[in-house]
Amino acid sequence: MSDSNICEQCGGSKTIWFKVEAITKADLEKRIELAENKSTTPFKICHGHPEPTIKHDGNLGDGARVCQDNDFRGPIVVIRGKYNNDIGPEDAVSLPYKQFLSLLAWGEQNRATMEQLAKEQEE
Ligand SMILES: [Zn+2]
Repeated sequence: MSDSNICEQCGGSKTIWFKVEAITKADLEKRIELAENKSTTPFKICHGHPEPTIKHDGNLGDGARVCQDNDFRGPIVVIRGKYNNDIGPEDAVSLPYKQFLSLLAWGEQNRATMEQLAKEQEE
């Protein structure tokens, strides 16, 4: 996490400081004059960003689900659904964790293209 006072998400200041001190009425009037905002750029404050509350439940849509399981290779990630491959219909795709993480990295790398294609499929 960055030590910067500027929020990386919205560019607002994370913390603002106030100096509180006792002053006379005359000093107060002078300060009000000085405090008028002459800046053309508004001061932006970060109000914080909540953690996303919706966690993926493994439902991939169209009856497909992803979950963790074990097979003869050890722990795996299983995607259950109806898939057709060269041999015939399959009801699951399973990947060892290393391959799953590799798939995840590939997905992140191609996210923009995937989002575009998914949008086109919905239309
Ligand atoms: Zn922010």
